[in-house]
Amino acid sequence: MIIAVASGKGGTGKTTVATSLARIAADKLSTDICLIDCDVEGPNADIYLKPRISGTKLSTQPVPVVDSEACNICGKCAEVCAFGAIAVLPDRVLIFDDLCMGCGSCVWQCPENALSEKDHVLGEMREGSTSTLAFAQGRLEVGRSRATPIIRNLKKWQIRPERNAWYILDAPPGSACATLEAVRDADFILLVAEPTPLGLHDLSLLVGAVREGLGTNMGVIINRSRGRDGPLEDYCLREKLPILARIEFSREIAAAGAEGQALDEVMPQIRQTWEGLLGDIQ
Ligand code: SF4
Ligand code: SF4
Repeated sequence: MIIAVASGKGGTGKTTVATSLARIAADKLSTDICLIDCDVEGPNADIYLKPRISGTKLSTQPVPVVDSEACNICGKCAEVCAFGAIAVLPDRVLIFDDLCMGCGSCVWQCPENALSEKDHVLGEMREGSTSTLAFAQGRLEVGRSRATPIIRNLKKWQIRPERNAWYILDAPPGSACATLEAVRDADFILLVAEPTPLGLHDLSLLVGAVREGLGTNMGVIINRSRGRDGPLEDYCLREKLPILARIEFSREIAAAGAEGQALDEVMPQIRQTWEGLLGDIQ
């Protein structure tokens, strides 16, 4: 079972929900629970869970390197690269590692065998555990621009059938490639939204992207709820999105979150909500 926790915009409380849900799942369910922090540009689930890190691994992607002795500047590699990662100049070939998707086409198609591959470091992946659950996290290296490959590598590293675990994924905020990569294999997506015009706008973008690209089942958790969340509720009704939980607007919760306290520590009644939700998803 893979549950992804996503939000259309940052600062909505997605990590607060993901970490608290993982803690309760680890208490309630007999299966192993693994929280994977896929928000690789700003990972912070470790602040709430305080895991002991037991291993790290570099996340890499193959990129081409050119042997200038063998290259005859034919231009074929730039022609086949659909991502504009190669420029062929009159006297040399330039490769832009950050634009490369690692597809290998240029290497295969080079008539002079002048291209080979090297590993390009994207960032670091870490794994560890708390007393009740497993934990993993990716961190994009400073200066790297693409989060998607490291998220893919992180999921491949951690999500293995023989583990027989439940995975709770903290996805990057937004509705672009990195978010969709994180939620792609999920059995269920929990959408955390706040009842503001901007929150509703960004939620609708995410819902549209998921429906068009993935079609996964989704439900909404309203954070900073005022009790009656008018336009957001209307939207959920119209889009047939069940509202699965509400987290009240509370200064105490915000302050505790800023101190790195898990939601269920400051709001113990959320346990019942998460248990019900896990039961429904199960
Ligand atoms: S395809 Fe090979 S030989 Fe042709 S320009 Fe590219 S690297 Fe050089
Ligand atoms: S590996 Fe693929 S994406 Fe990268 S430079 Fe070659 S053709 Fe372009």
